[in-house]
Amino acid sequence: MSLSVSEIRKDFPILGQQVYGKPLVYFDNAATTQKPLCVIRTIEEGYALHNANVHRGVHFLSQQATDAHEQARQTVQKFINASSPDEIIFTRGTTESINLVAFSFGEAFCHEGDEIVVSVMEHHSNIVPWQMLCERKHMHLRVIPMTAEGVLCMEDYKALLSERVRLVAVTQVSNVLGTVNPVKEMIAEAHLHNIPVLVDGAQAIAHLSVDVQDMDADFYAFSAHKVYGPTGLGVLYGKRKFLDAMPPYQGGGEMIDQVHFEKTTYNVLPFKFEAGTPDFIGTTALKSALDYIQSVGMDNIAAYEHELIGYATEHVSSLDGMSIIGTAPGKGAVLSFVFWNIHPYDIGTLLDHLGIAIRTGHHCAQPLLERMGLDVCARASFAFYNTEEEIDAFVAALKRIRKMF
Ligand code: PLP
Repeated sequence: MSLSVSEIRKDFPILGQQVYGKPLVYFDNAATTQKPLCVIRTIEEGYALHNANVHRGVHFLSQQATDAHEQARQTVQKFINASSPDEIIFTRGTTESINLVAFSFGEAFCHEGDEIVVSVMEHHSNIVPWQMLCERKHMHLRVIPMTAEGVLCMEDYKALLSERVRLVAVTQVSNVLGTVNPVKEMIAEAHLHNIPVLVDGAQAIAHLSVDVQDMDADFYAFSAHKVYGPTGLGVLYGKRKFLDAMPPYQGGGEMIDQVHFEKTTYNVLPFKFEAGTPDFIGTTALKSALDYIQSVGMDNIAAYEHELIGYATEHVSSLDGMSIIGTAPGKGAVLSFVFWNIHPYDIGTLLDHLGIAIRTGHHCAQPLLERMGLDVCARASFAFYNTEEEIDAFVAALKRIRKMF
C-alpha cells in the first residue's frame, strides 16, 4: 500500500474530533465524504478574497472568478476524461443531473409507448425522474433484475434492449450493495441497439478511475460532496451530440443568447443548461478536491479501500448473527448488514454513542431493499482516510451491542 493514512488524516480536521467522549469513527462516506483542508481553504479564500459574479463583469474580481470557475470545469473534464469542457455541465448534484436528462432528453427523444431501462439496485434519484418522465409521456419503466448476491442479470438485461427503449440508466456502484456494475459492457450492449446510456456515478467517482470516453457513456452524473468537495454542487457529463439536440432544462440568466418578447435564443454549451448564477465558489472547491485526489492517486485509493473492505468483511462475517447485504465479487467499500434481529436503528444509535457514525434506513433504495426482503438495514461505508483500527473498534462495538440484547 502506498498511502500514508496517518498523514492523510491530518488533512481532514473533522476526523480528529471526539463524539460523546469517544474518537470519531466516520463510516458514513457513501452519504457524504469529509473535506480536506485545501477544500475548506478554497471556500474561505473564495469568499474572503475572490468573490464576484462570473461571466458578466468586466472588472478584475469578476474576471478572476470566471477564470477560476472555468478552470474548475477543465479540471472536471480531465478528471473524467471528457473530450471537451463544453460537455461538463455544473448542476446541484447527481439528482439534478439525472432530472435534467430525464426532462430534456425526454422532451427531445421520448414518445408514448417508449421505454426506459433502469436496474433494481438504483438510488431513488435514478428511478423517480424516469417514473415522472414515463408518467408525463405515457411510457414504461423496465427493470434489470439481479441475483441474491447483488449481481445484475446480464441475460435479462440484454433481453430488455428492444427498439422501444430510448435510454438505459444504471448506477456504476450500488450505494447499498457496493456492487460495481460492468457499465462498459452494458453500454456496449446498449449501443448495439443505438440506445444511449446514463451512468449514475455518485458512488463511483471517489473510489474508481472514471474515463467517460473509454466506457463510452452518453451521460455521466455525480455529486461534488461525495468526492470530498462541497455540497450543493454536481456534474453532468453529456456527449455533445445529445446535449446539442436537447432543449434547455431551466430558463433564466446565463442560458440565453438573445431575449426578446417575440423570441428567445439560447446560449451555446455548456451554458445552455446552466440557468442562473452558478455556485462558482463551490466549483473552485471541487477543483481543489479533485486536485487533492489526483495527488494521492486514484489507483492508490482504490487499492487501499479494497484492502479495507476485505478486512471489514472478514472480521464482521465472523460475528454470529451477522448477514451482509451484497456480496458481489469485486464490490466497493460499502458494507450493509443486518445483525441478529436487532433493529438497524438501534444498532445505529448505540454505535453512535460509541463514537461510530454509520447509516441506517432504506438508503433511498426501497425497491432494492424490497428485493432483498428487507425494510431497512445498517450500512458502514469507507473512505481512504479510514483505518483497520477503526474497523476493529466497529467490530468490538457490535459485539458489545449484541451482549446488550
Ligand atoms: N445515486 C446514488 C447511487 C447515490 O448513492 C446518491 C446519494 O446517495 C445519489 C444518486 C444522489 O446524490 P445527491 O443526493 O448528491 O444528488
